[in-house]
Amino acid sequence: MSALPIDTWQQAVVITVHGTPAGQGQISFLGKGRGARHTNEKSLKPWRNAIIQAAHKATGAHGYIDPRRTGTCALCRTAKDQHGLYANIPTGAEITITVPKPATAPKRRRSWPITRYSTDIDHHARAVLDSLSQSGVIKDDSQIVDLTVRKVYPAEHPDALDRPGAIIRLYTLVDPA
Ligand SMILES: [Zn+2]
Repeated sequence: MSALPIDTWQQAVVITVHGTPAGQGQISFLGKGRGARHTNEKSLKPWRNAIIQAAHKATGAHGYIDPRRTGTCALCRTAKDQHGLYANIPTGAEITITVPKPATAPKRRRSWPITRYSTDIDHHARAVLDSLSQSGVIKDDSQIVDLTVRKVYPAEHPDALDRPGAIIRLYTLVDPA
């Protein structure tokens, strides 16, 4: 393998979301011809909306709007395959999910959200990355080439919030050759 230069990343944006985190990925099938839906739709929807709103606030981006299916955004006239603040750029994401601490968890020492109640970490990642795509910050999840996800209890990590939510740091590659 040739000696490739070491990647240099720059922090592009920090998005702070408040709300109760929900995972995405558990699908229930509703029966023949009735399609499928997310098992936890009721908690997932407000969480996804909170991420989208926080992303808009932090970046000024907007979601792709094309009701007449013209292939360009009705708001900014950008073509669909170019739409997104960091569209088509190698992007890294560091996601810290602050989940509610159960009343039964120790109060005076650090503990970890390892019960099913705290949701699988990849389902948390899926909810965040999908919402970032929908918000117009990135074009598609597939452009994420580097991903760190952690879940913590409030105030128990430098990137933990003091109440449930998430801090999402996005990095873009400097000078992708
Ligand atoms: Zn647009």
